[in-house]
Amino acid sequence: MFSYTSIHDYQEALKNGSVLCRDAVLYYLNRIQRLAWLNAYTRVYSQEALETADRLDRERREGRESGRLHGVVIGIKDVICYKDHPVSAGSKILENFHSPYHATVVERMIREGAIIIGHLNCDEFAMGSSNENAPVFGRVKNAVDPERVPGGSSGGSAVAIQASLCMLSLGSDTGGSVRQPADFCGVLGLKPTYGRISRYGLIAYASSFDQIGIFGRNVTDLAVLLEVISGFDRHDATSSKREVPAYAEGLTFNAQSVTQGDDRLSVNGHQSSKKPYRIALLKEALDHPSLDPEIRSRIREFATDLRLKGHIVEEISFDLLDFIVPAYYILTTAEASSNLSRFDGVRYGHRTADPEAGFPDFYLKTRSEGFGMEVKRRILLGTFVLSAGYYEAYFSQAQKVRKILTERTKLIFNDFDIILTPTVPTTAFKSGEKSTDPVAMYLADLYTVYANLVGIPGISLPLFTHTNGMPFGIQAMTYQFRELSLLQFSYELMQQYKSYEIPTL
Ligand code: GLN
Repeated sequence: MFSYTSIHDYQEALKNGSVLCRDAVLYYLNRIQRLAWLNAYTRVYSQEALETADRLDRERREGRESGRLHGVVIGIKDVICYKDHPVSAGSKILENFHSPYHATVVERMIREGAIIIGHLNCDEFAMGSSNENAPVFGRVKNAVDPERVPGGSSGGSAVAIQASLCMLSLGSDTGGSVRQPADFCGVLGLKPTYGRISRYGLIAYASSFDQIGIFGRNVTDLAVLLEVISGFDRHDATSSKREVPAYAEGLTFNAQSVTQGDDRLSVNGHQSSKKPYRIALLKEALDHPSLDPEIRSRIREFATDLRLKGHIVEEISFDLLDFIVPAYYILTTAEASSNLSRFDGVRYGHRTADPEAGFPDFYLKTRSEGFGMEVKRRILLGTFVLSAGYYEAYFSQAQKVRKILTERTKLIFNDFDIILTPTVPTTAFKSGEKSTDPVAMYLADLYTVYANLVGIPGISLPLFTHTNGMPFGIQAMTYQFRELSLLQFSYELMQQYKSYEIPTL
């Protein structure tokens, strides 16, 4: 019987012949079918995945060189283009659209031997926090408690890892869509620095915030995949030219030092002296009235424990907290209203069937029929905040907030290596609980949108179990491009603490 623990162990098993890529694919296809009620996948590419597995098995037998993701079975969010496959961002407006090219991440994964098993369900155009904005495919269920939401917008990508429906998955994170569902589902979710990963082939929501992120069950797996998909891409002018460190190698090296002592990597990848981490907790974040009291006390206890382990942990004041959700929703809806104007029914996707619709009714009808409620709300809101007369009052102000936040963040990281917050103020809520109150839904993004506003990396680690039975995590953030440090810190925590145990399905 196939079982999966990590890329490393799986590839060892492939090498020694105890397992085939075909076994892995069959295992996941079987589970996807059995657990179809979770609604995690929008499309499963069974035949192709099996063919790729067979080819990889053959190549390995012939002794041909294998890639870093050799045989790794990966699911991708339905906003990431996979050549000649449908991609719809969960929207009717993109019905019957097939991508004519690969997203850069997909191309890089395939080049390294990955097997793409399917597209994963999400909120329409990645707008949402519960996967309930799903007019075409319907909502995804949280496998720990199907009455509850899996989080969003990358709900399918989180549940795919939670329920072992693939080894690793990709989501996108504009304001928390990787970290928040990871938190709700009890898995790991990493959003890298803005510009670390090319956005070419990612359907845009808010371009200055969007970043592809990774879901997995252990830090080393995240590091391996991050290393493959990071780096400059001439198709995305915002992708960074910075060198991609050997993320996974660093962790293996330190895996030994963690057990031997306290050595760790410094940000540039060289071993540093035995230094404790300098960790900042944001006081206003922990005191926020929307934070579940149990989460608050567990995080404070955790901080105390980190202090006992020798780390420097300080609660610092962060009086900008109340500005970040409004700033986020003004700026992202503004960008969305512009990005989504391309969906007009002229060249591809949904087009109104009304033969009478002339200009400009044609656009009106096509877009009214094609977009769901939440997407329409955001296009309207975004158009409003950009309109003459309101631009200064909303858009410009929000941009100022973003700038001030960026400056403040830089200062914090002069003194600290890591910022720790809860990932979400509550555990996964019940389906329907917030879906009629958009503002309540937006406010739940309190802790995650910050990293996107300032472009820093963040990770959610599933360290705790609530007395209500649901998982919850902590969010760790570092300064821009310090993923190595973030992964190392996460690795150490995951080694030292007993993390949430996902029930077997
Ligand atoms: N929940 C946030 C929103 O609705 C984040 C979404 C995302 O990161 N894609 O905008």
